[in-house]
Amino acid sequence: MFNTRVKVKALLAAAPAGQEVTVMGWVRTFRNNQFIALNDGSTNQHIQIVAPLGQYDDAFLKRITTGASLKVTGNVVASLGKGQAVELKATHIEVLGDSDAEKYPLQPKKHSLEFLREIAHLRFRTNTFSAVFRVRHALAFAVHQFFHEKGFIYLNTPIITASDAEGAGEMFRVSTLPFDNPPRTPEGAVDFREDFFGKATNLTVSGQLEGELAAMALSEIYTFGPTFRAENSNTTRHLAEFWMIEPEMAFYDIEDNMNLAEEFIRYIIRYAMEHNAEDLQFLDQRLAEEEKQLPQDKRSELGLLQKLEFVLSNAFERITYTEAISILLESSHYKKKKFKYPVEWGIDLQSEHERYLVEKHFKKPVIVTGYPAAIKAFYMRMNDDGKTVAAMDILAPGIGEIVGGSQREERLDRLTARMEAMHIPAEELDWYLDTRRFGTVPHAGFGLGFERMVQFVTGMTNIRDVIPFPRTPKNASF
Ligand code: ATP
Ligand code: MN
Repeated sequence: MFNTRVKVKALLAAAPAGQEVTVMGWVRTFRNNQFIALNDGSTNQHIQIVAPLGQYDDAFLKRITTGASLKVTGNVVASLGKGQAVELKATHIEVLGDSDAEKYPLQPKKHSLEFLREIAHLRFRTNTFSAVFRVRHALAFAVHQFFHEKGFIYLNTPIITASDAEGAGEMFRVSTLPFDNPPRTPEGAVDFREDFFGKATNLTVSGQLEGELAAMALSEIYTFGPTFRAENSNTTRHLAEFWMIEPEMAFYDIEDNMNLAEEFIRYIIRYAMEHNAEDLQFLDQRLAEEEKQLPQDKRSELGLLQKLEFVLSNAFERITYTEAISILLESSHYKKKKFKYPVEWGIDLQSEHERYLVEKHFKKPVIVTGYPAAIKAFYMRMNDDGKTVAAMDILAPGIGEIVGGSQREERLDRLTARMEAMHIPAEELDWYLDTRRFGTVPHAGFGLGFERMVQFVTGMTNIRDVIPFPRTPKNASF
């Protein structure tokens, strides 16, 4: 019976010919005991329901409150009111679920994003969050479509892993041992041989190493799954649980890798712009409103849609790490001692440095390549200079690092030398080294943080507002 309903989005596009339809949704507002704005999440536009005066008694009308759910049958007619072409002249209204107006936390007024984070179980019911999560869906769908069209294989890498040699971040331990009295080795350490998997295990920080194994047969694969980092970074760009997309490609060098990443980012942005134009317009206005609170020099030069258009039509800047350091050292920002962290060849670029390059200097996304080997992971391919590796980070305005990738070291001797230097035990990664022993090929890949991408496209400033239920230090509610 419920599936005969028509969604609000379809209804708003219907011809007002008096036909009878049934809609269901949640009341946003109810005016003059007559006009109900009903929303069902298919669009941010509400359908106006007209409850003819005199048809319902006061006791019933009192139940039509913000947040209540309704089933309404009526006739689709042209609307006399402003703002909508059609409205529904109700013949039958049923309250599916009451909502006590006194207690309902979401009043029809503006709430702060901070407040909405505390009631994340209800925030889907706001225009901002419905728009964000519809766009997030579109981007996820576009990710699969992009790789599918290119013949990549979607690979599910393990979430529980025993490999802890990758060094991408702090890990969460997975264990069924009793905390208060774990089994111990004769030396007194926790004896993980007694644990569920017979060894110490963690939640994955990246599926890359496993992705490489598959790419050495399937040629081009991608992962799209949750990753976990127990880093204590309370920033607007870090989550303890986030989703990452990691393509890994045989027969790719660093150049091919950059080209793919750029094409990929454009593709998914374009997809969202084509399929979620209305939501993005809404988010564009929301951001403009939010930025009105900021001092002039803190506001973005481009609006959200302008920024996305710009990214679609302009190639990313490509520079080497060494060039990046020179730009920073020559900047007046540096000379005026405005950077908090030191700048010299060899440093890991801090977010203030990345943001300077992207937002002040180039004013567009930047791909930085050729990082010092010492600050990058063991699997990145050594360049001929013996000092830098074929790494690439993509930095985006307002976000900083959005992609981290590299050409992988395919030469067994170089790889093992690097592992030795970094004290990574080869026995633990013997399976990984097999790919270099048997039919090794040049290959490359990258990781794109999905939430950072959603931030970029929706213009949401805090990463906690683009994932339904954020996990951050001291917070795992809902
Ligand atoms: P950062 O320097 O910003 O912490 P990272 O160098 O640790 O990033 P990588 O290990 O290269 O990042 O991970 C690949 C991508 O995953 C990053 O480019 C970013 O988009 C995303 N990412 C990394 N850590 C997080 C996190 N804690 N929360 C959300 N996204 C993240
Ligand atoms: Mn990190």
